[in-house]
Amino acid sequence: MSELTPMMRQYLEIKADHPDSILFFRLGDFYEMFLDDAVKASRILDITLTSRNKNSDGADVPLCGVPYHSANPYIAKLIEAGEKVAICEQVEDPKSVKGIVRREVVRVVTPGLVVDADCLSPKENNYILSFATSGEAWGVAYLDLSTGEFRLTELEGSSGACAEAACVSPREILVPAVFRENGSLASLSSVTGERIVTFVDDWVYDADYAGRVFRNQFGVESPDALGCEGFPAGVLAAAAVLHYLEETQKGKAAHVSTITPYKTREFLVLDETARRNLELTATMSEGKRRGSLLGLMDRTVTAMGGRKLKQWINYPLISLSHIKERQDAVEELLPAGLRGEIVGQLTGVYDLERLNGRISLASASAKDLVALRESLQRIPSLLDVLTSMSCALVRSLVDGIDPLTDLVDLIGRGIVENPPFSLRDGGIIADGYHAELDDLRSISREGKGYIARLEAKERERTGITSLKIRYNKVFGYYIEVTRANLAGIPSDYIRKQTLANAERYITPELKEYEEKVLGAEERITELEYALFQEMRVTVAAQSERIARTADRLATLDVLASLAELAHERGYNRPVVDEGDAIAITDGRHPVIEAMSLGERFVPNDVLLDGSENQLLMITGPNMAGKSTFMRQVALIVLMSQMGSFVPAGEARIGVVDRIFTRVGAADNLARGQSTFMVEMTEAAQILREATSRSLVVLDEIGRGTSTFDGVSIAWAVAEYLHDRPDHAARTLFATHYHELTELAVTRGRIKNFNIAVREWNDQIIFLRKIVPGGASHSYGIQVARLAGLPLTVIERAREILQNLEKGEFSAEGIPRIAGSRKNAAPKHSPQLSLFGGEGDRVVERLKELNLSVMTPLEALNVLDELKRMV
Ligand code: ADP
Ligand code: MG
Repeated sequence: MSELTPMMRQYLEIKADHPDSILFFRLGDFYEMFLDDAVKASRILDITLTSRNKNSDGADVPLCGVPYHSANPYIAKLIEAGEKVAICEQVEDPKSVKGIVRREVVRVVTPGLVVDADCLSPKENNYILSFATSGEAWGVAYLDLSTGEFRLTELEGSSGACAEAACVSPREILVPAVFRENGSLASLSSVTGERIVTFVDDWVYDADYAGRVFRNQFGVESPDALGCEGFPAGVLAAAAVLHYLEETQKGKAAHVSTITPYKTREFLVLDETARRNLELTATMSEGKRRGSLLGLMDRTVTAMGGRKLKQWINYPLISLSHIKERQDAVEELLPAGLRGEIVGQLTGVYDLERLNGRISLASASAKDLVALRESLQRIPSLLDVLTSMSCALVRSLVDGIDPLTDLVDLIGRGIVENPPFSLRDGGIIADGYHAELDDLRSISREGKGYIARLEAKERERTGITSLKIRYNKVFGYYIEVTRANLAGIPSDYIRKQTLANAERYITPELKEYEEKVLGAEERITELEYALFQEMRVTVAAQSERIARTADRLATLDVLASLAELAHERGYNRPVVDEGDAIAITDGRHPVIEAMSLGERFVPNDVLLDGSENQLLMITGPNMAGKSTFMRQVALIVLMSQMGSFVPAGEARIGVVDRIFTRVGAADNLARGQSTFMVEMTEAAQILREATSRSLVVLDEIGRGTSTFDGVSIAWAVAEYLHDRPDHAARTLFATHYHELTELAVTRGRIKNFNIAVREWNDQIIFLRKIVPGGASHSYGIQVARLAGLPLTVIERAREILQNLEKGEFSAEGIPRIAGSRKNAAPKHSPQLSLFGGEGDRVVERLKELNLSVMTPLEALNVLDELKRMV
């Protein structure tokens, strides 16, 4: 491309500064894209790719474009596809310059920084997250630009940082460029994998620079002023976000007015596994909100409340006083009348956080300001209702809610009731708000009246009753006379256009008035736009007050939602204390109970504590309800620590610092990982990190490998959890290996439970009731029969099972598999071998087998072979 047009040269210069964005290059009424951008965008947007031959060497320049006034849906689609879009505008008035207009990128939209409602779902945050390291510490900071919410924390090691990032679930991730070389990026792959990663220059991660950007954004002396002392890596991570914000938003994010540091240990810690297994915010199978705990619990009426509820689920409390505060509020909100009045007012409140964001980022329309006013107008009557409430949390909310009457008044006076969407065509500013605007409007109105009078006058003068004065964009005002009446045309008419049936004329007088009217109209739209912008700036200056009020209203919405749920589903207030017991009477699984798939949900009790009931070994056939029961306990604990009421008759919860879950491989195949390895990694983490305050849920551990391996691992894990008194975590342990019930014989804090079934005519009926004692056998064969396996296979399996079971106990009646060379009394179990003295050949042969890939027929053949060996 030797000889470029000046415009193309300008394009390429700007594009060079934004190599990883699609450049929207403003040309008149269009945003045009060129070259590779055009090829890519036309494919994503499904719009026509054209080309123009602008180069002297004859090469075509691919080109496509979208109209500027309807660009948003196109931008949304590109963002959805993971692209960044740099918006390049004409920054001079084309009418006032000769040659080429100056253009600049005014904003870069990236997936992590979208604020346009088209790209966002109301009840979900849209976060950009940033990692940084400082010594050993890993900093994590994340911002939702659309709402202004900004937090930072610090964790140990990349795995902790990853876990936190997975919880935040950001849209885009910022990492230091050096991470590509030093291996850190690889250690983050579990969260960066499917997300958009943007690399930031390494010099940005510097404490002095961080101090400077904090000062610029928040107007504070140093990060310490916002409570960030002790978070050096978190501050660096946050500074990188601010740096990126400056680069892309060009300094317009005033609503990002503070940052909140937090320690993950101040909350009940839920890692990603627990969050996924308990289906807190999405279902395991389809990743849908519907069917998750969040889906069940969400009765919020505002988008802000919906987002906050999700946060409460992801970050349950451990401070007893804070939990009690929330519970008190929920209790006071239980009466339907009071709650109804509050919810009634909240229902009329729009998404104040995102309105606030758009106002600060100068992308709010007049409709947004009206929505802000209408929302704020609800506050006085809301406060009236709230005065009757006495609980501490609501009282403190009330203190923080600002009715912002100054803004209500300003917008009410300034903006018409129902403004148009466009800001450029006038019709926004109310009469009486601005004197000059009122004058211009009366000139325009009078001018129009004058033209009506002129029409009457001309009709009279010419005697042509069909004469009309009309307006079009090309000629402005003109006089139209039909062909039949041309004879009566006065000499001062100047002919402008000839039509088939008529002629069009102008007169000097008409043009003079036209100038006045049209001039006024042009001035009006300009002035209205300027007045609107001025008002937007005035409102933006109050963004901190808006944010604070929005946050209080969101909390109120969540509390009302919890009360609504408790009321509707008959939940009760749990006691959360410092004791070590988790005692639940008539507990139900909140989600399964509500799905009511024909079967009535059977409530169950549980008692876990640090002494005799530390580990409950739960047996019972497949489909009996083991997994449901354990999840229900975990969910009741979690809901209790959110401050919610719970689906139980009574509940006493000794506060839990962390919930661990491990779900057997077979329940988890959809993830498509090397499942056994994942299972063992997670188990290892639990054994390492669980404390006596933790709640551990182990569901079918060891299922991912062969039976003997599996039962051995499960056995050893249970022993380990029991045997370390300082780490004796309260544990629910479900297994279909009924052999594990023998553990209770030798271990004082292990108790057996099973989920009752009734055998009837060789069939089983699920009673769904948890009862003390172990299941006597696994009922696998009955379940297989229920599933319709041929009877001959069932019969044969039964026979084989009997043969196998003969070898289970030693001569002393002690389970053979529990034997230990190291610490068990000799009389317990002299042998390690499953088959006692029957010879190592059998054991060797068994060890070779991989049961999980064998067909039943192969299994039978091997059994036959084994039988002949002994
Ligand atoms: P397991 O883990 O023992 O194989 P699940 O917990 O998966 O069994 O339960 C199987 C099904 O039984 C669940 O999907 C649920 O529909 C039903 N179920 C479980 N517990 C109950 C209960 N307490 N009341 C009614 N139905 C239940
Ligand atoms: Mg199960």
